[in-house]
Amino acid sequence: MDLIERIDQWGRTTPDRPAHISGGEVLTYRQLIAKSDLLADHLIKTLPQDRSPVGIYGHKENEMLIGFLGCVKSNHPYIPLDTSLPAHRVDAIISTAQASLLLKPDDIAQLTHRGQSSNFEMRRLQKDDAWYIIFTSGSTGDPKGVIISRGCLESFISWILDEQGFKDSGEIFLNQAPFSFDLSVMDLYSSLATGGTLFSINKEDIAELRALYQSFAVSGITTWVSTPSFARMCLMDAGFKASLLPGVRKFWFCGETLAPEVAANLLQRFPKAEVWNTYGPTEATVATTSIQITRKILEKYPALPVGRAKPGTLVEVHDSGGSSVPAGERGEIIISGSNVGLGYIHRPDLTSKSFFEYKGWRAYRTGDAGHYQDDLLFFDGRLDFQIKLHGYRIEIGDIEANLQALENVRDAVVIPAMKQERADHLVAFVIFKENPTGSEFENMQRLKKGLGSRLPDYMVPRRFIFLREFPLTPNGKADRRKLAEKIQ
Ligand code: AMP
Repeated sequence: MDLIERIDQWGRTTPDRPAHISGGEVLTYRQLIAKSDLLADHLIKTLPQDRSPVGIYGHKENEMLIGFLGCVKSNHPYIPLDTSLPAHRVDAIISTAQASLLLKPDDIAQLTHRGQSSNFEMRRLQKDDAWYIIFTSGSTGDPKGVIISRGCLESFISWILDEQGFKDSGEIFLNQAPFSFDLSVMDLYSSLATGGTLFSINKEDIAELRALYQSFAVSGITTWVSTPSFARMCLMDAGFKASLLPGVRKFWFCGETLAPEVAANLLQRFPKAEVWNTYGPTEATVATTSIQITRKILEKYPALPVGRAKPGTLVEVHDSGGSSVPAGERGEIIISGSNVGLGYIHRPDLTSKSFFEYKGWRAYRTGDAGHYQDDLLFFDGRLDFQIKLHGYRIEIGDIEANLQALENVRDAVVIPAMKQERADHLVAFVIFKENPTGSEFENMQRLKKGLGSRLPDYMVPRRFIFLREFPLTPNGKADRRKLAEKIQ
């Protein structure tokens, strides 16, 4: 597959078809191709030819897509950065990635307003050239940037299109996830590769159910891509059913556990639609396994499987010694194959911990526990302190390190408060260096504000509990189990 060529051809064959609709603004394929060529031309002329990354900082604007393709066509991988990231975090990402430029939608609009580029020559990516770099939470407080090559992305998209039988038929894909979260890669490139329309909903829509439903009613969405958390939120309203979205034929989920009741409710309210569960980390390009969740699967398995590996991939469960375990036994999920990324940008230390060569392929230790049953993979939780909160991937250590960097904080431990076996919100336990002045409420507000300037809102704990000491385990570490008992 030549993904860029596939996308560009829509500019020639169906130039007036909408490529992206966001907040009522429409970007056609003609505009997308012409403007991304213009941007690429500008980047080739102004940036060193060193394949250095370019940050694209915005939300769901049409210019985000122009920015992404403009970077790729100039052989500079892009880093999608959502506006939910505070300036401190954006600075940390730009500096870790050694990015040569940070572009915002206004910059992109200005650079591309002319409309068409003359005699532009695209820089074609080789298989192992980076296409994008997505930053995820890192356990020591520094975000880490996963490098995804052209080969990885094309392997992933080819699989999705084959499996789902998408023809070039102009599907309309829901884009719920911010572009900084790799779930969005699933809808973005499935749509662009097939001449479809990406229908983005923005954070204002999501915060206001009525606005969201108005968006849905006019959307014509045929393929729904979101986290299970988002679907669960929509299902809380009885109006979320086939009459609101009569065109939906598929629900695709990835990123966190799909609860059986969410799948069952969707099948009931959208009788003509299929529900799919897919699994995988950013490091292995969005998703590596998949399964259609039918009524039969729901009846048979109380916890839903995440499916079978995509072709060209080996997904094994290993014991701590690195040997594959028999079906039914738990171990760590190891992914190897064509969709495993190139590692973490400028972090060879972290890369060598998690990426390795296995049976001649690039392989990744997911840190996920899992087992096989009936030739199907099941996800059994994490082996470390990474969590998913409402679909967001968070390293608990990232929040703790950023809390400890705040003034007067001696030590901090963060624990997810659980509800029906899912993380519901975060609770921070904090020890101050010196007795602070002010009430507990004021101190909590001060810490929330300090943390909010370093981390996105979804990583700021909802509750704070101030202690003089932490209970300790026999080997002298903060006893997380005892702390968790205080909040459950
Ligand atoms: P991210 O890199 O944000 O996509 O997060 C990857 C992690 O999300 C995986 O390592 C798993 O822990 C979790 N995850 C992804 N897909 C699923 C799924 N279908 N079911 C359960 N957990 C999942």
